[in-house]
Amino acid sequence: MISVPLFALALFGTANGLATKRATTCADGTTVQNAACCTWAAVRDDLINNVFEGICGENAHSTIRIAFHDAIGFSTSGGKGNGADGSIITFGATELNYAANAGIDDIVTDLQPLADAHKVSYGDVIQFGSSVALSLCPGAPQVQTFVGRPNATIVAPDGTIPNPFDPVTTILARMADAGFQPAELVALLASHSVAAQDQIDPPIHGSPFDSTPGIFDNQLFLEVQLRGTLFPGSGGNQGEAESPMQGEFRLLSDQELARDSRTACTWQSFVTSQSAMASAFSKAMTKLSLLGHSSSSLTDCTEVIPKAPASPRSQAFFPAGQNLNNIEQACSAAFPKTLSTQAGTATAVPVVPTQ
Ligand code: CA
Ligand code: CA
Repeated sequence: MISVPLFALALFGTANGLATKRATTCADGTTVQNAACCTWAAVRDDLINNVFEGICGENAHSTIRIAFHDAIGFSTSGGKGNGADGSIITFGATELNYAANAGIDDIVTDLQPLADAHKVSYGDVIQFGSSVALSLCPGAPQVQTFVGRPNATIVAPDGTIPNPFDPVTTILARMADAGFQPAELVALLASHSVAAQDQIDPPIHGSPFDSTPGIFDNQLFLEVQLRGTLFPGSGGNQGEAESPMQGEFRLLSDQELARDSRTACTWQSFVTSQSAMASAFSKAMTKLSLLGHSSSSLTDCTEVIPKAPASPRSQAFFPAGQNLNNIEQACSAAFPKTLSTQAGTATAVPVVPTQ
């Protein structure tokens, strides 16, 4: 029997450790610490150039949306799908027909062939794609991003995606069933700062939820607390509430979450702190992306996710013509009194152009 000195084993282990930390230059010139992430540098570039067209526009918004819709097909008690597994694409013939997924087929026609071309799973292209999409939106955090999800094996049942017309209690119960606290739901809703509606009032397709849909700022949290006075389109659609400005669309669920005692103070807390909002959102998005998985069985490729440009502001502002008097206060803490009002007269918020 050959005896192996303990120090030799230790050296072997150290050498392996060093080997995995040596930087690798990928074919496209990207330098990575983990060579397994080179595949993902190429996926990133394809997404940015050919799906997102380099902007925080409709396709970036839709990719962040599908990340939620795919992942939330999950329950901590089982029976509601395997979470962030790409089932919304693999079983698209079923899941894309659910009413809550109306319009998602558009982004699937971009993501599915891209995943096939790069030989990556649909669960990965959706969650990785969401992180890349966010990197194009000024103010967005760099979300910790894992890859290596296997292909989906089961379809998620209908009814896992909260609807904008659901009561707050129903929405909070569904999120709790998937493992999320009310504050985490509010954090995830920062995504509505870079979002627009398409299917609730189709003739005004692209009408955004805040006045800055190309920036991941905290305007959503301020603007949803403003008193609603008008409908931007036909009005009275299921899941719609009155908004404070022409062109802006308000989801009934956003309106109610901003005014409910269980969520109002978290909602208001994000009005004064872009960084707190971005940090809470980032944590919640990573948690969402891991539903149905363990991070220990995946690979962390955050290093190939670009850092988004900084937000132009750290605090929200009142849109022109609005001020503190138009706030519908819900949290017992006072609404911040130091926010400025945009100069000029009120103008309609433009739609997000179709890509
Ligand atoms: Ca799924
Ligand atoms: Ca915004």
